[in-house]
Amino acid sequence: MKNGCIFCAIAAGEIPSFKVYEDDVVLAYLDINPFTEGHTLVIPKAHSEGLLDTPDETLAAVLARVRKVAAHLKSALPCDGFNILQNNGEAAGQTVKHLHFHIVPRYGTGPIAFESGKGDMERLKALADRVRMA
Ligand code: AMP
Ligand code: ZN
Repeated sequence: MKNGCIFCAIAAGEIPSFKVYEDDVVLAYLDINPFTEGHTLVIPKAHSEGLLDTPDETLAAVLARVRKVAAHLKSALPCDGFNILQNNGEAAGQTVKHLHFHIVPRYGTGPIAFESGKGDMERLKALADRVRMA
């Protein structure tokens, strides 16, 4: 890991991920501690820490991909909606200092509460295959 950033290492293919979408600018993969089934992270391949140090063009490109991936998730999964989360700084719960947008598919109704659990690797793999095909 050349800059000590785990998401850079994922973008470089040095660490495996359950990839659902990739192009020149972004990578999207399933969160391994999902809030809900299909919880996906979208990152720029170029490192920046958060919203404030990311160039406008990168941000625009990433957000366009967030929308694209959310549409794929909606067509591949029986979800009723989704939340977009983007944490900045430890106080906001940011644990990985590489810009990322969470797409959290939502099923049915209920309070906006997020509780993660350790993902089942086989299930995540099958899910990533399904969304990637969508
Ligand atoms: P945040 O709290 O906004 O910084 O979110 C970081 C997210 O990255 C958490 O939801 C973690 O579960 C997730 N995460 C950490 N390492 C990995 C990994 N190797 N593959 C996929 N997701 C990861
Ligand atoms: Zn990084």
